[in-house]
Amino acid sequence: MKNDCIFCAIGENKIKSEKLYEDENCFIIKDINPICKYHYLMIPKMHYATIKDMPKGQAEVVGKCIALIPTLSKKLHLENGYRLIVNQGEDAGQGVMHLHIHILSGQKMNFIV
Ligand code: 5GP
Ligand code: ZN
Repeated sequence: MKNDCIFCAIGENKIKSEKLYEDENCFIIKDINPICKYHYLMIPKMHYATIKDMPKGQAEVVGKCIALIPTLSKKLHLENGYRLIVNQGEDAGQGVMHLHIHILSGQKMNFIV
């Protein structure tokens, strides 16, 4: 938990936000500013900014979290495909310095990559 981190605050229910999924490792919320029909954030509970800052053992934890995503296919509208984005640092425009995975779904994506 980092005091001034919005995602840590949401993870610890200090700021209210509907969690579509939660376990001991991560949680999923809707992005407050969606860029796609459905736009979610999968957020590992442990605080660190980017992949290069990952504490030991976290790669496995994040891998486990990512592996869960297809099991939430119906709930997150992933049936027709989806896109995962993990912004890393300034050039990528990372705004929240707590690792998170954008999950975009629900429409054809003729934008970005
Ligand atoms: P980044 O640019 O860091 O990859 O993405 C951060 C994302 O978090 C942005 O898409 C932004 O809309 C979202 N976001 C920032 N603050 C909040 C918040 O308080 N609640 C929710 N649900 N999303 C947020
Ligand atoms: Zn944090």
